[in-house]
Amino acid sequence: MRIDIVSIFPDYLAPLELSLPGKARDKGLLDIAVHDLRRWTYDRHRTVDDTPYGGGAGMVMKPEPWGEALDELTADSTPTIIFTTPSGEPFTQKVARELSAEEHLVFACGRYEGIDQRVIDHATQWGRVREISLGDYVLNGGEVAALAVTEAVVRLLPGFMGNPDSLVEESHEDGLLEYPVYTKPAEWRGHAVPPVLMSGNHGAVAAWRHEQRVERTARRRPDLVHASHLDADLEVRVAT
Ligand code: SAM
Repeated sequence: MRIDIVSIFPDYLAPLELSLPGKARDKGLLDIAVHDLRRWTYDRHRTVDDTPYGGGAGMVMKPEPWGEALDELTADSTPTIIFTTPSGEPFTQKVARELSAEEHLVFACGRYEGIDQRVIDHATQWGRVREISLGDYVLNGGEVAALAVTEAVVRLLPGFMGNPDSLVEESHEDGLLEYPVYTKPAEWRGHAVPPVLMSGNHGAVAAWRHEQRVERTARRRPDLVHASHLDADLEVRVAT
């Protein structure tokens, strides 16, 4: 997979050099590059923003640098272009899975009051377009969203996880949250590990874990229960 990230604060994306994406790069699964939007400006001040038409507070990102950046980064492919925005579709594990099947992602990280709408309207000429929100809150810029989406996507790339089974029961994969996990010692500050986990009975462990997933989801995230295909048994637990 190739990922290009365009930002006016490329240093903000330095964590991409660390751990997970770095590991994916070493394995040859990922080719990732961060680009400074100001590379596509030509005035002395390297201007990327201007006042909004119609008035109002704040500044808006100018279309010209974005246009040139996206012309260049899409010259030899038709990527999925991701505009990070609080007005976008909520980012979920399902979206991460869909994106992990793409060959090329380009992230456009907004700042100020956002990017001139004409860039987003025009973007279908460069590739598929997705406007993605990290959640129902407002960040100062799209970099944190690009980092979060990249991390969630890269760990799904085939061949990335040493043991792909560890992805199967994770929270949000099948609509349920994950069960609680424990390690040694068997007793810590008076708290014991649930005995079933030390019973050696694989069937009982699997049943206990499933029960925990159902209980946890019903208690913490009833919205997931109502929004998904989960069984009637779970609906009853939410109601009681
Ligand atoms: N005025 C905009 C609004 O109310 O929708 C918010 C602009 S915000 C200060 C600047 C940039 O941060 C946005 O253009 C977007 O790229 C990014 N951003 C802010 N919140 C975000 C979120 N929840 N998810 C993804 N990106 C976000």
